[in-house]
This record gives sequence, C-alpha cells and structure tokens, in this order.
Amino acid sequence: MVLSKAASQSDVSVHSTFASRYVRASLPRFKMPENSIPKEAAYQIINDELMLDGNPRLNLASFVTTWMEPECDKLIMASVNKNYVDMDEYPVTTELQNRCVNMIAHLFNAPLGEADTAVGVGTVGSSEAIMLAGLAFKRKWQNKMKAQGKPCDKPNIVTGANVQVCWEKFARYFEVELKEVKLKDGYYVMNPDEAAEMVDENTICVAAILGSTLNGEFEDVKRLNDLLIEKNKQTGWDTPIHVDAASGGFIAPFLYPELEWDFRLPLVKSINVSGHKYGLVYAGIGWVIWRSKEDLPEELIFHINYLGADQPTFTLNFSKGSSQVIAQYYQLIRLGFEGYRNIMENCQENANVLKAGLEQTGRFNIVSKDHGVPLVAFSLKDNSRHNEFEVSDMLRRFGWIVPAYTMPPDAQHVTVLRVVVREDFSRTLAERLVCDIGKVLHDLDTLPARLSIKLGISPEDAKNGVVVKKTDLEVQREITAYWRKFVADRKKTSGIC
Ligand SMILES: *Cc1c(COP(=O)(O)O)cnc(C)c1O
Repeated sequence: MVLSKAASQSDVSVHSTFASRYVRASLPRFKMPENSIPKEAAYQIINDELMLDGNPRLNLASFVTTWMEPECDKLIMASVNKNYVDMDEYPVTTELQNRCVNMIAHLFNAPLGEADTAVGVGTVGSSEAIMLAGLAFKRKWQNKMKAQGKPCDKPNIVTGANVQVCWEKFARYFEVELKEVKLKDGYYVMNPDEAAEMVDENTICVAAILGSTLNGEFEDVKRLNDLLIEKNKQTGWDTPIHVDAASGGFIAPFLYPELEWDFRLPLVKSINVSGHKYGLVYAGIGWVIWRSKEDLPEELIFHINYLGADQPTFTLNFSKGSSQVIAQYYQLIRLGFEGYRNIMENCQENANVLKAGLEQTGRFNIVSKDHGVPLVAFSLKDNSRHNEFEVSDMLRRFGWIVPAYTMPPDAQHVTVLRVVVREDFSRTLAERLVCDIGKVLHDLDTLPARLSIKLGISPEDAKNGVVVKKTDLEVQREITAYWRKFVADRKKTSGIC
C-alpha cells in the first residue's frame, strides 16, 4: 500500500543528465522497467534525484542522529548483511544487544543485584518500544482483573495531550482508550495532579514523558509517583507508571543525575529510550527496559528454536538489521559516561547560545525550559503581521529546516518554532542561525503584512488560533505556497541568496 503521494503525477519518466551516457530511454516512474540498466546508471540516477532532499545536518526539526564517527560507519557497513534475528548464527551480536540492555538498565537505576541481568530489548525505535511496554501493561492489568472476576474490556491509559503520536497509535491499534490531560496556556506538559485524578480502576498505566516532544520539558515523574502511591493506597489499585524517555533518557542521567525520574521511583515499571536520538546512533534503534521480570508477562514472550537454540523474543518485527545494535554498543563503550556527559553539556551550551541570541532580538518568547532536552522552542511575541510559519518558510532560503507547529489542546492557539540541538550542531552554526533569523525578521518587516487577511482570517481570529472556513493545514499550505512564490519571484529580481 502506498500511503504517500509521489511528487508529480504528470511526469511519467525520470531524467538524468549523467545517466544518459548509459541509457537512451527514460525510466518509467511508477512501473518496474522492462529491462535492466548498468549499475553505474542506476547509481547515478538515484544519486542525482536524492540531491534534492534536504541536508540532514541542517535538519533542525529532528532529534535523530545525523552524524557518527567514521570508525562506527565502518562497523555499520560491515554488518549490514547480518539479520539480527538469527541469534544463534550471530551470537556475538546478540551478546552486544544484551550488554546494551544491561548498561542502559543500570543507567536508569534498575534495581539489579550483582548477578542479575536486566530485562529489556532492542527495538526499531521508541515507537516499537512503547507498543511493547503498553502491551505488557495491558496484559498484566487484564490478568489482574480476570483474577478478581472483574470485566477487562475497557482498558485506558492516562497521558498528557502533548504525547508523541506513537501513544495514539498504541491506543488505536491495541484498543486502549487514551485519556489525555489537557495543556494550558504557558503549561505544556502533563499536570501530574490532574493525571492522578483521571486514573480509575481500568487505567493500565500513566505514561509520563521525559522530554516533551513539543518543548523538551521534563514532566514531574516524582510527583506523579508520590500521588499515585497515595491513590493506590486509598483505592487498593496498583496503577503503574511508564516513562517515555525517548529523548530525555540519554540526557537526564548525564546532565541531571540528581533528578529522580527512573527506576529509583517504585511505580516506574518500564522505560523506553530512543538509541537514535541522544543515544547518538543513526535512525533505527530504540530500547525498552522493564524494572524486573515480574513486570513483563511471560505469555508475551515467544520462544523460537528453528534458527538454532532456544531464543526468547518479544518484538513486533522479526527480521531486521544488526548495524544499529552494534553502533549503539560502539557509542556506549567509545564515549563512556564521560563522553556522553561532555556531548550533552555541549548541546546544552549551544542551546543556551541560541536561546540568548533569540532573546536578544526582543521578538520571541522562549517556550522551552532550561531544565530539559537541549532544544529551543520559541514563538513570536507579536504574530499579528507575520506568523511562525512564515519565519519557518523563510529560513528554508538559508538551508535551515526549522519546523513551526501549533500546540495540542487546550493550547492550540500557541504556535512555536523548534530547534533541536544535536551533537553535530556546533556553536558556529548556532550563531549563524541566530544571524539568519535576524535577517528573516528584517525581511519580514519590510514585506506586506497581514497575509492572514488575504487568506480570509480576521486578525482577531488569527491571534486566537481560530480559523475561519479553512483548517490549520490548509492555511499553512496556502501560506507556504504564497511564500514559496514570493521568495522565488524575489530571487529572480534581487538575486539575494
Ligand atoms: C521521538 C519520540 C517518540 C518516538 O520515538 P521513535 O524512536 O522515533 O519511534 C516517542 N516519544 C517521544 C517523547 C519522542 O520524543
């Protein structure tokens, strides 16, 4: 099933200047070509087309790693042909994943004795990790309800409205009601008091986020833990906590070792983290760690032996590459605690440089917190003339990819821009970005205002996020199209950039 549209439906063939040395006829776009072509031609055609993708290093929208050391790149290339699931054939790779699980479990303060091994698994990312953790909670809750002779057909999960989309996926795919604590103006994470309030007998867990995707802020897991302990005592329930530490799991242990968010809190039963975010590995790896064996129902674990010896597995996928597991192991031993801490401190400092530069313009409110994931989320103090989407679009001219988005309910009238500071975002780049944002603001000031009026939105409505007739997406698209045209026309006349 193709869910995404190919760029242009009208153009039926792919052209390439270089490849014309090898092929005379152009390639059909949507049908497999009848004949083979030389490997050089295939390479050239694809390489040429891919040049039009953005530069990953300038993609400030993403938490996902875009740079690794060449030595690790070598290990990755050397293992691309190893199927991870063939554990008996590749016992060393399996061993490396187990070492990673144990290292991360210790990092998260899992209550492990000297001889204990941690319970956890490598996944494709936090999304798969969260599906697995959610399934474990659901099954444990069902088992408990059945044992008590109670109905178990209406499970729910409590989160903030700021959850990442994978929680909504989990809820829909696995038929669990998602109960969201709404956000408020100026408060963009789950309020633990309201979350605890929302918990009922059918709540399989409360999911707290360490590093909200929207503004990097850490939710108060400790307070949530304390409130739920109290509530559990009063009601006789045993509502547990999952921590979605997709981005913060590799930040907090290094920058905020005193912060209690992990297995130090008794109700935290599982934690996920994205190896491919601040775990510093390219896309395709995540981890889920359980507090103890008792928190992962045995019936969810499959034992396979047709590839050799008995191997327990609990994943949604079967086959997958080994490279990412090996790359994670490389980073853990290459950097050690010291290396991770240095990198995270650098990221934090560069985020501060960026934040200070933005504040100096006097034009932005900073929506991210000093305590949290190294990112800067900011919104315009005055977006009545020009809004954040226009700033985002104008920054593209300089090569920067800085997303703008509206906050979830009940803060949907707030639009923010977000820059994620990764290891490869240097101080020079931070200063350069501030400078380019300054230019964008200057350009916007000289440009015709009130695009929103042209798009049929009254200034009052635009300010309140109310969109007349059009959906947010439609308006965004129109603004983007308008600016694209505007910028293209301007380029032709002034030759700037
Ligand atoms: C990125 C992210 C996810 C999804 O993680 P993937 O590793 O991309 O699957 C889930 N939750 C939070 C808080 C995130 O930041």
